[in-house]
Amino acid sequence: MLIVQKFGGTSVGDLERIQNVANRVSKTVKEGHQVVVVVSAMSGETNKLVAYAEHFSKNPARNDVDMLLSSGERVTAALLSIALNEMGLPAVSMSGRRAGIITDAVHTKARIESIDPTKMFDELNSGKVVVIAGFQGVDENGNVTTLGRGGSDLSAVAIAGALEADLCEIYTDVSGIYTTDPRIEPKAKKLDKISYDEMLELASLGAKVLQNRSVELAKKLNVNLVTRTSFTDEEGTLITKEENIMEKPLVSGIALDKNQSRISLMGVKDRPGIASDIFNKLADSSVNIDMIIQTVGHDGMTNLDFTVPKNEVLDAKAVMDKFLEANEIQDISYDDSICKVSIVGVGMKSHTGVAAKAFSTMAAENINISMISTSEIKVSMVISEKYAELAVRSLHSAYALDK
Ligand code: ASP
Ligand code: MG
Repeated sequence: MLIVQKFGGTSVGDLERIQNVANRVSKTVKEGHQVVVVVSAMSGETNKLVAYAEHFSKNPARNDVDMLLSSGERVTAALLSIALNEMGLPAVSMSGRRAGIITDAVHTKARIESIDPTKMFDELNSGKVVVIAGFQGVDENGNVTTLGRGGSDLSAVAIAGALEADLCEIYTDVSGIYTTDPRIEPKAKKLDKISYDEMLELASLGAKVLQNRSVELAKKLNVNLVTRTSFTDEEGTLITKEENIMEKPLVSGIALDKNQSRISLMGVKDRPGIASDIFNKLADSSVNIDMIIQTVGHDGMTNLDFTVPKNEVLDAKAVMDKFLEANEIQDISYDDSICKVSIVGVGMKSHTGVAAKAFSTMAAENINISMISTSEIKVSMVISEKYAELAVRSLHSAYALDK
């Protein structure tokens, strides 16, 4: 197999850990695989470099920032290659440029546009382990760019796609994706496999493990992703396309989002175009709307409830005040003490009663549901924040995720 192994900052956090990574790479090679390694900067290194720049300027030129930040990953790549060669395992380190990674010219948050894998294949075919500095590329004029914080996962996925690798393993300090947050429900179980779409919906569980951008890219490029820990030999979680998952569980996981607030608009003028006006104005102010509920109107008035991320409430309020002034809305209230609990699973597509079970589980705990939204593979409920943990635990057991 051709395997891309990506090691994050904590996995290469000091010289001893870099040696551990070298040992793991060596083991993979001895099992008969070809290996391309993508590395992050040693943990804390990128922050340190950012602070160095800030010592001189509050607003340093972005191309200089990219020159600076890209160096952190190059240090790790070079050290790992040196360690591998010393163990008798031929290896070569490459910058993003050498690996053929071309990005747009948006410094400090560039997007990968193309990858020419020729050099990587040349080195692989001559029997070497290829170690690539993550998080970086060059624009079409050869200027160094970086992909945004946490971007070396993206490098790894994009490289795996360009090489048509069999597997892209992302090594972190977390052992995989769980049925729910184990800090809330200690009976949470690690999933063997999960589909891209479920993973995207469970983002609140996986956010610390994988960025959504990386999962989206893996889905687009059809890259089989594995998240696992570099500290033990424990198997991780495979994130793959739905067709590769034979047994489709009704529900794969329970996600909790405590970062939403509810905005309730009362006495909204019930006229054509009002929703369009309100939500376009919110969009213009870059407010992200999640759930929306509009109730049936009476006497030319209706009520409209929606949720926004907690840190966008003030922006939303500024927009809504304009509608108040214009008498298009009679009253507004804000509720910060809510949370959103979601059940996610591809099996829902072909089964009935999955949502009903979620509602009866809440009822049995006497938890009031104030908003509901569904998609093909998800049911989300807004409830009072104080019941968040109870809701997660009872749903987890109602769908037998602890079994
Ligand atoms: N070193 C970069 C950062 O800290 C990229 C990465 O770790 O993925 O954001
Ligand atoms: Mg990192």
